[in-house]
Amino acid sequence: KIDFVQAFQMSGTNEEQARELSAAEKKKMSIEETRKSLPVYAFREAFIEAVRDHQVLIIEGETGSGKTTQLPQFLYEAGFCEGNKRIGCTQPRRVAAMSVAARVAEEVGTKLGSTVGYSIRFEDCTSEKTMIKYMTDGMLLREFLNEPDLSSYSVMMIDEAHERTLHTDILFGLVKDIARFRKDMKLLISSATLDAEKFSTFFDDAPIFRIPGRRFPVDIYYTKAPEADYLDAAMVSVLQIHLTQPLPGDILVFLTGQEEIETVMESLIERTKQLAGKVKELIILPIYANLPSDMQAKIFEPTPPNARKVILATNIAETSVTIDGICYVIDPGFSKQNSFDARSGVEHLHVVTISKAAANQRAGRAGRTGPGKCFRLYTSWAYQNELEDQPIPEIQRVNLGNVVLMLKSLGIHDLVHFDFLDAPPQETLVIALEQLYALGALNHRGELTKLGRRMAEFPCDPCMSKMIIASEKYGCSEEIVTIASMLSVNAAVFYRPKAMVIHADSARKGFWSPAGDHVTLMNVYNKWKETDFNMQWCMENFVQHRTMKKARDVRDQLMALLERVEIEPKSSEDSIAIRKAITAGYFYNCSKLDNSGHYKTVKHKHTVQPHPNSCLFEETPRWVVYYELVFTSKEFMREMVQIEPLWLLEVAPHYYKQRELEDATNKKMPKQKGKSKAELA
Ligand code: ADP
Ligand code: MG
Repeated sequence: KIDFVQAFQMSGTNEEQARELSAAEKKKMSIEETRKSLPVYAFREAFIEAVRDHQVLIIEGETGSGKTTQLPQFLYEAGFCEGNKRIGCTQPRRVAAMSVAARVAEEVGTKLGSTVGYSIRFEDCTSEKTMIKYMTDGMLLREFLNEPDLSSYSVMMIDEAHERTLHTDILFGLVKDIARFRKDMKLLISSATLDAEKFSTFFDDAPIFRIPGRRFPVDIYYTKAPEADYLDAAMVSVLQIHLTQPLPGDILVFLTGQEEIETVMESLIERTKQLAGKVKELIILPIYANLPSDMQAKIFEPTPPNARKVILATNIAETSVTIDGICYVIDPGFSKQNSFDARSGVEHLHVVTISKAAANQRAGRAGRTGPGKCFRLYTSWAYQNELEDQPIPEIQRVNLGNVVLMLKSLGIHDLVHFDFLDAPPQETLVIALEQLYALGALNHRGELTKLGRRMAEFPCDPCMSKMIIASEKYGCSEEIVTIASMLSVNAAVFYRPKAMVIHADSARKGFWSPAGDHVTLMNVYNKWKETDFNMQWCMENFVQHRTMKKARDVRDQLMALLERVEIEPKSSEDSIAIRKAITAGYFYNCSKLDNSGHYKTVKHKHTVQPHPNSCLFEETPRWVVYYELVFTSKEFMREMVQIEPLWLLEVAPHYYKQRELEDATNKKMPKQKGKSKAELA
């Protein structure tokens, strides 16, 4: 049992105003009635008028008030799509773009992809008919490459601006510029929290349109003492609420990622099984970015009577998606954040404490359909003293290689004077320029090279784009594109059911290659292809069919892009050629086993570990290149290939010097004569 103490009540608006319909009531209503019940509805005419009167408008309204789903529709209905121009709306998250588009298509009464569509990386669900287009902020950035003035849009809404993602921040500067010379385009910046003034100032004092929120009071509770294991504490709290609090009232738990969600889900299922029959049913549902969309849709289904829903979510549920019927929020106080350490050149995902602003957003999710409660799994002292007021914008903490390449391709050379809402640290900009130079995307004057221009065609990070282009030289584009696709799906390829661990592991080992994990992934794809993309084969081999299908889609798109940059796809079985192409893209991520048996990155001498899932985990070759670092208990290299140090001089002569690559054991470069172990592999 966890001891909570009530600290204070977060005030709501008055009862009368706060009254919103419950999920069950909504279910009975027609779509039209549901739309009318949203807070923005009362401001429909005023909003349309404000858009007519002003070119740029900042919109502020609480989460769930209907900004994302309603405002584009209002403008569509008011005729803002005349002349076949579109209304665009950006979302920082893929899941939000897809789920919101699905919802709006339903409201408009058309099939998704027709009047209403969405576009996310590697998935374009729009057509010529699409008038309302939801897209990730990253996709809009890419659209600038083909349409620098966004001429196909009459309105652009940069939504969830408060999230301050890297791409959204770059978009601010770009759309501000466009609005100056395209007076016919309307620009909306919408945000859920209190940054409106800051946005207004940035956009030349644009007027702010406020949508008054409705919220019931939420009681805030803290733990008496710090919790050592927040996952266990979260699970215990769920059960505690379920057993002591009245129905109806669903629970929302904020966790940091898929793995945590799965862990908590498993143990909750286990615990509730033991209680089966003794307590009311508990429906456990996950929501995170990589969750297949049919599973995502489940969280929006109303809870059956006599049951309770518990939703295990990443911070996607903080503002991007709104789930009705939540009365209890459990907030462990953490989220996953990517950050880049300029000194070590290492980029990784860390679990960090959230900001006070985020904690209050989370709590607010409990007060939408009635008075709510928020249980914070940390002490009131920790809230006051350990949480920052606001999150740090992404642009100030991540690697900028990607956006620098993008901006250079858009012809923006002077990055230091780019119109940033908050400028990135000078140091990170310099590192990004250096890395792009080492990759050959920029010349010594910082100008885009032909290689850089080709790299920018791919919706991938610069290392991956470079790897793909380098495959031309090594005659193995077919293989490299397969590898790139498998790396891009970013979801588990293998699964490991508890009851069949031994079978699953031996199936996985069947694909292993001594060359490394990239080649292993390629083997999986090729074997699956040989079976004509058979689903049964996937099941027999403990391979996720869904992941594979996604990889195939990504692969098709990357092959089409090869044609665009005029690379004729060639195939090669030469493992060295394949690994040289990988090294040509990922040479920064090179580490070497030292004599004490530890891997250290070659450039920065940063200690890293092979990932236990890697097929090279036991092999521990001397030189490896890895795909990325993941940080859990230690810094792990995910997906590694074995390489020869000489290759580094061949693929990155600007970056590596001979003496850095000398082997500590014999103080000499490995001889080129004769075949080494790696070359025989
Ligand atoms: P805001 O952008 O102001 O946070 P939204 O427009 O996202 O608000 O949400 C308005 C309403 O639409 C909410 O009540 C939410 O529950 C509902 N909604 C949003 N997406 C979906 C969906 N995919 N399915 C069902 N309802 C949804
Ligand atoms: Mg929204």
